[in-house]
Amino acid sequence: MKAIVKDQNAKGLTLCDVPMPQIGPRDVLIQIDRTGICGTDLHIYKWDDWAQKNIPVPMVIGHEFVGRIVELGAQVDYLQIGDLVSGEGHLICGRCRNCLAGRRHYCRSTRGVGINFPGAFAEYISLPATNVWKLAPEVSKDTAAIFDPFGNATHTALTFPLLGEDVLITGAGPIGCMAAAIAKHAGARHVVVTDVNPERLTLAQKLGATRTVDVRSETLPQVQEDLGMREGFDVALEMSGNAQAFRDLIANMRHGGKIALLGILENNVGIDWDQIIFNSLTIKGIYGRKMYSTWYEMTSMIQSGLSIEDVITHRYHYTEFEKGFQAMSEGSSGKVILNWADLG
Ligand code: NAD
Ligand code: ZN
Repeated sequence: MKAIVKDQNAKGLTLCDVPMPQIGPRDVLIQIDRTGICGTDLHIYKWDDWAQKNIPVPMVIGHEFVGRIVELGAQVDYLQIGDLVSGEGHLICGRCRNCLAGRRHYCRSTRGVGINFPGAFAEYISLPATNVWKLAPEVSKDTAAIFDPFGNATHTALTFPLLGEDVLITGAGPIGCMAAAIAKHAGARHVVVTDVNPERLTLAQKLGATRTVDVRSETLPQVQEDLGMREGFDVALEMSGNAQAFRDLIANMRHGGKIALLGILENNVGIDWDQIIFNSLTIKGIYGRKMYSTWYEMTSMIQSGLSIEDVITHRYHYTEFEKGFQAMSEGSSGKVILNWADLG
């Protein structure tokens, strides 16, 4: 089968033929229909320090996908051939304290699809049946292809109650933009999104931000004043990974405010701990998606009228993957989709 592979200790990726994946008794074989390119895939493409440390070569990469089940392991009795599915990219150990207690998203030894387990940028992928999410008919293939990052946005945005609250989102990347749509859907009052890239702020507005802020020319205290806010943001979602964005966020919270931290910060970022302590702030780190309540919430939100499809800005056939990675590396795209089905 065809697959996009990291096959050298160097920048770039190769489209090549690899053996078909085998399935065990508890696995399913999925024929890939479309995939999303994640920032992680771009790190692997660029072969930066993180990628060099974490990706064994050769490796089929990619973890955002939708496809159809074409083969079932002998012990899989609750899925069917032909089911349209996406899947959770974290494979859990099943044996650690958290896994045994049903807190699978806190597993201490996960493996990552397309990181250290053969990935989804391929015509077929084999996955444990327990990692497969069968899609409801209301979920389009495009939306399903990005359930993984939509899940990051959902997990973060729904960590704290949003009804009637003023929400700050720092970073209008694809995940920040989807989080804006979710916050609005979940009943927030103001959804303020910051970035330093006007194209991304336009995208955030399209998805549901009620106010966008280019922090190069406006400050958050000014924005609060414009909006008639007096006491700061109730809930903040950090989705930029930028240290200054995180510091500004902390400084603009109301006392008792809640912060969910998804963006991966550079090393040793210093913050003013006095603001956390004396303003009684809560900070919660977020990793991945909850297995599988986040998947359920994503489905319910789509069924109750949420649309995140506007976050998709580029679509290519998988043979044109270089163009997709080029669009990603320019830094102004939303989600980039690769199509693995027929060209027609
Ligand atoms: P992205 O890199 O596409 O978006 C980040 C955005 O932040 C960019 O648009 C950038 O212009 C903006 N930004 C830069 N400086 C800023 C500043 N000072 N103020 C406001 N915005 C600023 O990333 P993404 O794919 O949308 O993901 C968001 C973050 O979440 C990234 O840091 C990513 O690494 C992280 N992430 C974490 C998890 C997890 O499980 N914790 C999973 C996926 C992604
Ligand atoms: Zn575990």
